[in-house]
Amino acid sequence: MAPSISLAYRMRLLHKPLSGQRKMYLAAVVLLLLILAAWWAWEWWPRPPLPAGTVAAGTVKPRQTIRTGFLPNWDQVALQEMERQAAKYPHNLWLEGPTYRRQVAFTFDDGPSEYTGALLDVLKKHGVKATFFFMGQNMELRPWAVERAWREGHTLGNHTYTHPHLAGVDSTTFWDDEIGKTQATFKRMLGWEPAMMRPPYGEISDAQIEDLGRHGIKVILWSLDTQDWNKNRMLFGKHNIERSVQDHMHEEAILLMHDGGGKRAKTVAAVDALIPWLKAGGYEFVTVDALLGLPAQPRAPQAKAASAPQ
Ligand SMILES: [Zn+2]
Repeated sequence: MAPSISLAYRMRLLHKPLSGQRKMYLAAVVLLLLILAAWWAWEWWPRPPLPAGTVAAGTVKPRQTIRTGFLPNWDQVALQEMERQAAKYPHNLWLEGPTYRRQVAFTFDDGPSEYTGALLDVLKKHGVKATFFFMGQNMELRPWAVERAWREGHTLGNHTYTHPHLAGVDSTTFWDDEIGKTQATFKRMLGWEPAMMRPPYGEISDAQIEDLGRHGIKVILWSLDTQDWNKNRMLFGKHNIERSVQDHMHEEAILLMHDGGGKRAKTVAAVDALIPWLKAGGYEFVTVDALLGLPAQPRAPQAKAASAPQ
């Protein structure tokens, strides 16, 4: 029978003494496997928590910077442009907290989406408060998620109504169709308007920053982009999100993540894994308004607890 003949043939091959060329070939394969194993261990071995910082907590940072690298061809604003705007508008546009307290602000864009509930569950499980930059048109689809995020103590901000590239938008459209329209959506759903906004793609003109300033709205960018929006980096599950945080973590970081705009199960899983790692490194989780010392948003009225003792 064919299979047994083939097996016998293979057995003969195995017992044949190896020629010099075959030995070289075998050695090359073994070496390659060793290199792969070493790479795997280096890449996947759990990272130890970060050691304590060396700068005094109250020291003011000389300038605001973005720690993660620029990915070309992905519609991103040049990092230097965001850093230029942070330097030009120190009270109206932020990349990170101003000093070196061991605090971190998780921020989530593009929601609410079908993943927001799962993310809120994870944050609740760990007792962590985060900041959500919601899109107006998504708030209309999931008003219950907006309400829940507020009730659970998270800070909410404006991420425009339709997620356009703002730099090309005229001033009337900017306010009437995007920023103001989303502010009005908040007002209608929750009774107040947020004092923070995040521009889609980090793209905003100087004139628009000034316009928002006149409305009392701060522009919040980020100092650490987890790049969870990048499909190419998501091939290994939550791993690359974790690593981008672990490799670039710093005091008073503002972390960019997404609960909307695509499949976000990996982001939710990464948050679940990162919170214990950051806690072990001595990090405290704060909302962006608390991190920057901005006035807090109105607190949600406490729902009457049905299980309260009578
Ligand atoms: Zn966005």
